[in-house]
Parts: sequence; C-alpha cells; structure tokens
Amino acid sequence: MTFQTIESAIAAYPICDYAFIQIKDIPFREEVRHICKTECQRYGRSWSCPPAVGTVEECRSRCEEYEGGFLFTTMTEVPDMEDLEGMLATRTEHEKITRQIRELFLKENQEVLVLSTESCAVCEHCTYPDAPCRFPERMFPSLEGFGVLVTGLAEQCGIAFMNGNNLVTWFSLILYRDI
Ligand code: SF4
Repeated sequence: MTFQTIESAIAAYPICDYAFIQIKDIPFREEVRHICKTECQRYGRSWSCPPAVGTVEECRSRCEEYEGGFLFTTMTEVPDMEDLEGMLATRTEHEKITRQIRELFLKENQEVLVLSTESCAVCEHCTYPDAPCRFPERMFPSLEGFGVLVTGLAEQCGIAFMNGNNLVTWFSLILYRDI
C-alpha cells in the first residue's frame, strides 16, 4: 500500500483533515479512561467501550500490532451543541464514511482495526454483557474508550478539533498492517 493511493482515493469523500501517524505517537492515557468511567453513560453498556475493550494497556498492545494509522475527521453542523442526542444523531454519516474509508484499506490488502468516535450505535439495544456482539465486523470500538487522548493526537498532527460554533468534528483512526 502506498500513502498516495489512499490520498488519491479519499479525495472523493468529505474528509476535512487527515494524517498518517505512527503507532508509537498515539497518546494513551489512564485519565481518559477515568473520564469514561466517571462521566460517560455508556461505560459498561457496550462491547465497544470499557471495560469490555480491556485495560488501557491491553488496548495499547492491540494497537501496537499494527504498522501505522490513518487519522481523519469529518464535520457536521448542528443547530444546538447542548442537544447531545441531536448531536450524536449526526454521527451516522461519519460512521458511513468510516466504513467506506475502511474499504479502501481492505482493497489495498491491509488488515485493519478501526477506532471511531463515541460508543457503537449499530443496534438499538447493545447485547452487552449478556450475549456476544451481534455485528463484530460493523462495531468500531471507541477511540476514547481505548484511552486515546484524541485532542492530543489531533494537536500533534496539526488537525483542528475546535472548528467554530455549532460545528462538530468527528474523528476516526484506521490502524493497518499488511496481510
Ligand atoms: S454491534 Fe450491536 S451488539 Fe455489537 S457493540 Fe454495537 S450495539 Fe453492541
């Protein structure tokens, strides 16, 4: 796979910013996991979130099995940033684009691990913890749930994450390696 192949292909998608990153540069932080545990309603309610995804160290180890990462953002305008449900509903388009970008890597004979924004919302009611995930191939674990300091990673890459009033910036990270 060459970076140029991916760069040419993503031009067809509404991606705002992107960067190829090294795995060693991903900032894993226990503090991020602490915020999940103490402030997020999805903690302990999804296969895509902690504690189901394992400890931060286990998440880091999973990521270190890959050769590199492709971080990208899309943006959505929302009428009210205080309306959490309304804001989360706009994520659907980002997840669709994330699946399409994943396909580009698969076509290049890459194995991937896709981390995305927020908790998985594929099913109306997650099976966690009573039964296995219904769609493991569609479920993207949460970047923050893996303990990734997304703002720190974005800053390192020169990717903007505060893009003005009523604009939500969604992130995904595709980790890849040769098959
Ligand atoms: S695909 Fe369904 S069962 Fe699996 S993590 Fe997402 S919501 Fe839960």
